Amino acid sequence: MEQNAAEYRALCYQAFNFAKLRLDDILENQNDDKPLAIIADIDETVLDNSPYDVKLIESDTRYEKSSWIEWGKLEIAKPVPGILQFLSYANKKRIEIFYISNRYNEQLLETKNNLKKVGFPNADENHILLRKEVSSKKSRRDMVSNSHKIIMLLGDNLTDFSEVYDNKKTKERNHLTDSLKHHFGNNFILLTNPIYGDWESKGIYEGKSWNIIQEDSIRRSKIISY
Ligand SMILES: [Mg+2]
Repeated sequence: MEQNAAEYRALCYQAFNFAKLRLDDILENQNDDKPLAIIADIDETVLDNSPYDVKLIESDTRYEKSSWIEWGKLEIAKPVPGILQFLSYANKKRIEIFYISNRYNEQLLETKNNLKKVGFPNADENHILLRKEVSSKKSRRDMVSNSHKIIMLLGDNLTDFSEVYDNKKTKERNHLTDSLKHHFGNNFILLTNPIYGDWESKGIYEGKSWNIIQEDSIRRSKIISY
């Protein structure tokens, strides 16, 4: 996993080095009246939860809400490489950071504490928008865009960028990504997440839950050999 791949760290730095170039360029050509905002997902974009994944492996268990909340309460997740520097830089340029995450709303306090401890800007209730009724992030993005101009989105899952990806299977996700290709590295900055994501749950498993044996055969049926 990414804990032992310096290439993972390098990909993060690559993303944020490029995001900074884009940001400087956007600011130079900016003449909007609205205040500017960047939207960032939290898990695996801002905070690194890989110790939680390791714990699941160690205990031979799977993701469960209760263990996830337990991990969150520890408030010890570290920043993804390069993100803290990038968001601090943006914030110094008077850009507001909004954190739109599908952590459960009951995790607000510990999420805020964890972000604050590490030193993230705008780590307060007005800027941390967690999941309430719906998992789609569209309505929360719309809320931000009522008062701000969103200049950039950061995420590790395609639904962090656009609702067109909500509940889509692999073929559609691939097709949509081809049609949106100009956004990536432009106003969409994508981090890699090889551990989990919609690529697996909505893509490979098509949004359904399976037992471990079924999952194994589904995985095998969806890879391409020669
Ligand atoms: Mg995420």
